[in-house]
Amino acid sequence: MPDLTEKVVNLAKRRGFVFPSSEIYGGFRSTYDYGPLGVLLKRNVMDAWWRAMVQERDDIVGLDAAVLMAPKVWEASGHLATFTDPLVDCRNCKERWRADQIGDTCPKCGSHDLTEARPFNLMFKTHVGPVENEGSVAYLRPETAQGIFVNFANVLQTSRKKPPFGIAQQGKSFRNEITPGNFIFRTREFEQMEMEFFVPPDQGQKWFEYWCEERVRWYTDLGIPAESLRLRHHDPEELSHYSAGTADVEFLYPWGWGELEGIANRTDYDLTQHAKFSGERLEYFDQASGERYVPHVIEPAAGVGRSMMAFLLAAYDEDEVGGEARTVLRLHHRLAPTKVAVLPLSRKDTLTPTAKEVFDRLKVHFMCDYDETQSIGRRYRRQDEAGTPYCVTIDFETLDDKAVTVRDRDTLAQDRIPIEGLVDYLRERLSA
Ligand code: ATP
Repeated sequence: MPDLTEKVVNLAKRRGFVFPSSEIYGGFRSTYDYGPLGVLLKRNVMDAWWRAMVQERDDIVGLDAAVLMAPKVWEASGHLATFTDPLVDCRNCKERWRADQIGDTCPKCGSHDLTEARPFNLMFKTHVGPVENEGSVAYLRPETAQGIFVNFANVLQTSRKKPPFGIAQQGKSFRNEITPGNFIFRTREFEQMEMEFFVPPDQGQKWFEYWCEERVRWYTDLGIPAESLRLRHHDPEELSHYSAGTADVEFLYPWGWGELEGIANRTDYDLTQHAKFSGERLEYFDQASGERYVPHVIEPAAGVGRSMMAFLLAAYDEDEVGGEARTVLRLHHRLAPTKVAVLPLSRKDTLTPTAKEVFDRLKVHFMCDYDETQSIGRRYRRQDEAGTPYCVTIDFETLDDKAVTVRDRDTLAQDRIPIEGLVDYLRERLSA
C-alpha cells in the first residue's frame, strides 16, 4: 500500500474515524464502521453535498426512497440482465478476480491459467417474507437512482417543478463486488449521493457540460487541490448503451487516478423503460406550449466513502511545531468533524466551572469537544490529528480577564478573545 494511504488508514483507525466491521470477530469481508470522528466527517460530507445540491438551489428537491423496491424495477432498469462484472477464476490458486482489472495474470500467484470471463451479477438477492421461493425474491438496490425515476411523477405533481429540475437523494447502496479494496474506496455496502436532473431533450448536452463543471468545483471548494482532480470523458466504446455522454470526476489517489463520481447523460432511457414496464405515463406536459415530452436526464452520482477517502488524503499533512513533529488534517472547516475544542489549561477545580460554561455556550452553535486530560501540548496535537480548526484554552488569567486563547490549527496564531465575543469570533471564521 502506498505510504500516504497507509498513514491515512492508520490515522483513521487510531483516531476512530473508521473501524473494520465486526472487528472482535476478526472483521467481515471489507466492510467498515464509522467511529465517533468518522460519523461526523461522513455527515459533514453528505451535508455539504445536500447544501450545494438542494438548499442553495431552487431547482432541485430531495427524496429518500426505500432500499428494497419492486423487483420489476430492476428488470426495467436493465440491472437484472446487465449489471454484471466479468468474473475469472485462477485455476492455480482458486482466487476470483474482475477480468477487466487484472489482464491475463493472477495478481496473487502470477499464474496465467485463468478461466474464461463470465458475467457475474452484482446485485445482492434476498427474500421478502417468510417463504423463500422465486416469488419472494427481492434485491438490495445497487444504486439510489432508480428510487428517483420511479418517483418522477409523484415529485412532479407534488413539487410543482418543471424541467429543468432535479431530484437529489443520498443513501445506502449494495454491490456484491468481486474484489472490494483500497479501504473505503470500494466496499460492498456504501453510501451514494445521486441527483437526477430532468431537462427538455434538446438541452441534454448543455446541462451535461454544466454539471461536469459544477461537480468538479464542489470538490475544489471543499479543499481538494485542482491538480489532484480531473474530468475524464468516456470513449464511445466505454459508454453504457443508453448514455449520450459520460465523464468521471477522478482524484489522484496514491495508487493512481480513481473515480470519485460519474456524470452521465442518460437521455430518456430510464423514464421510457419504467413507462414501458409499469404502464404509467412518465412524461412532462408543458401547459404553456401544449408540448408533451419525456425529459432527458443528467446524473451526477458520487460516493460518500470515496470522497471521504479523497478529503482525508488531501488534508493529511505533517509539519513541525516548536521543534516537534505533528500530524495535522487540514480539512475544510465545513468538513472537520469537531469545529472547536474547549481545553482548560489544568484540571484544577478553579478552571472547570468556567471551562464548562464556555463549552455550554459554544455547543449550541458548533460541534465541540471538551478535553481536560493530559498536557495542553498533547491535547493540541490530538485536535490537530482530528482536523479541529480551533482550540479554545481556558487559563488562570481567564478568571480575571474573562477572555480565552483561541488557537488556529493552520496558522497556529493565538488570539486572546473575550468570552462574550467568542461565538461571533468563531462563527465569522467557521462560516467562511
Ligand atoms: P467503478 O467503476 O469504480 O466500479 P462505477 O462506475 O460502477 O464505479 P457508478 O455506478 O457510476 O460507479 O456509481 C457512482 C458512484 O458510486 C461512484 O463514482 C463511486 O463514488 C460510488 N461507488 C460505486 N461503487 C462503489 C463501491 N463498491 N464502493 C464505494 N463506492 C462506490
